[in-house]
Amino acid sequence: MNIVLFGPPGAGKGTQAKELSKQYDIPHISTGDILRANVRDGTELGMKAKEYMDKGELVPDEVLIGLIKNRINESDCEVGYLLDGYPRTIPQADALASILGEINKPLDAVLNIDVSDDELVARLGGRRTCSCGESYHMKFNPPEKEDVCNACGSELYQRDDDKENVIRQRLTTYNEKTKPLINYYENLGILVNIDGTGTVDGVFADICKVMDQYK
Ligand code: ADP
Ligand code: ADP
Ligand code: ZN
Repeated sequence: MNIVLFGPPGAGKGTQAKELSKQYDIPHISTGDILRANVRDGTELGMKAKEYMDKGELVPDEVLIGLIKNRINESDCEVGYLLDGYPRTIPQADALASILGEINKPLDAVLNIDVSDDELVARLGGRRTCSCGESYHMKFNPPEKEDVCNACGSELYQRDDDKENVIRQRLTTYNEKTKPLINYYENLGILVNIDGTGTVDGVFADICKVMDQYK
């Protein structure tokens, strides 16, 4: 199963992908998580990416294309994969098509998780993140113990780009650079719209109904 989870920042891609990855036993590839791990480790890639991430802008295409090419060619992706946060521009989507063409593993579907702007702002503003990749929300999806990750016990933090002024810039970046991909995949006939406004479990059930068709 080769799936892209698509949607604006805060739509719930990461939250859903974590569960879907367990349910279908395929790797969850989050470019945001990979970049943040590089920032934490102080790698050259991380230092370059941080400048853009802190401003709510996209990291240059060539960086992401190289990164995703390496990741998709790892052996765990042979059974399929769940992409989260990639592609975010038309050149990234074109590059993905050619990478997947080479290994003869085309995308089955692009699931577009749709949520209103007001709800996105509320979700991002209250998001708390763990270095293990889990995310929570202070009101909508609190951890069992305040500020502690259920999955690994680490202390949660607020991402620098989840501060109000950067949130607005990220939504603008999404509208300008990423939203055109909805048309791009609609034209390819593989876009599936998902209403992302329900509960986490409700949205999960809706996505599973779609994914079950590609098992
Ligand atoms: P994305 O990966 O698309 O940026 P996340 O999965 O990190 O989004 O979710 C953004 C925030 O919204 C997090 O705080 C998360 O706990 C919360 N959230 C996710 N899904 C829902 C939902 N269905 N209802 C309410 N809050 C949600
Ligand atoms: P969210 O889903 O909450 O917007 P992500 O964790 O997916 O956040 O991404 C965080 C930041 O990492 C983005 O704002 C951007 O700077 C960078 N990033 C992640 N994926 C990509 C990508 N495919 N292309 C360019 N930049 C990316
Ligand atoms: Zn954790």
